[in-house]
Amino acid sequence: VQVLPGVYQLNGLPYNSMQNTFLVHRDGATIVIDSGDFEQIESLPAIQQRAMRWGVPFDQVSHLFVTHEHFDHASHAAEMQRRGARVVASPESAEAMAASDLRSVAWDHDRVFEPCIVDDVLSDDQQMTIGGLTVKCIAAPGHCDGAVIYELVLDGEICWFIGDLLYTRGFVGPELATLSWTGAVDFDKAKSVETLKQLNERPCDHLFPTHGTPVIGSAKAVLGRALHYALVAWR
Ligand SMILES: [Zn+2]
Repeated sequence: VQVLPGVYQLNGLPYNSMQNTFLVHRDGATIVIDSGDFEQIESLPAIQQRAMRWGVPFDQVSHLFVTHEHFDHASHAAEMQRRGARVVASPESAEAMAASDLRSVAWDHDRVFEPCIVDDVLSDDQQMTIGGLTVKCIAAPGHCDGAVIYELVLDGEICWFIGDLLYTRGFVGPELATLSWTGAVDFDKAKSVETLKQLNERPCDHLFPTHGTPVIGSAKAVLGRALHYALVAWR
């Protein structure tokens, strides 16, 4: 499913699956943001096929950006690395992915996380340029310590790939936004609220969450709603 020019959703609700994978193929760059399995379903072959529908062989993917180390968003990292992609993550997520410990939440999917040594570690406010694309990392701790957002400015519009910062319509209900899963060993309520507060101060046009539908054009309303819920539930 093409969501914006050159931005494709390769997994998630349109494919009757739970977790999103995004491909950005434009401006001389081919990158993937988040790729993992949910429970027992092996999703990487299907994701590759869907990329091919848009004429993108997966061996063209130069970088996999991981928003956080959770199994359903990062379990393909080691395999994609073997196929030539460089894996990018925050320092905390890189440590968790190498350790393959409880932080990967593979236990919640009854699976084992294949350890992965991250190639490029990006900290808060650092950016990487790939072809004509610049990807900026924004720390977003709370859901887990390593959680980050990747910001891309496409055609002058600010796109945030937000991982499990919040869920959007269709995943756990019809609400504009719902709070994300709180079962991670390093989930932190206070950090979650602070992250949502800070993000609400920044400009953003579009949201690409790992669960639920992308939000095109009303990012601020969704972020505001999530902060409202977090203030009620997590203070
Ligand atoms: Zn998560």
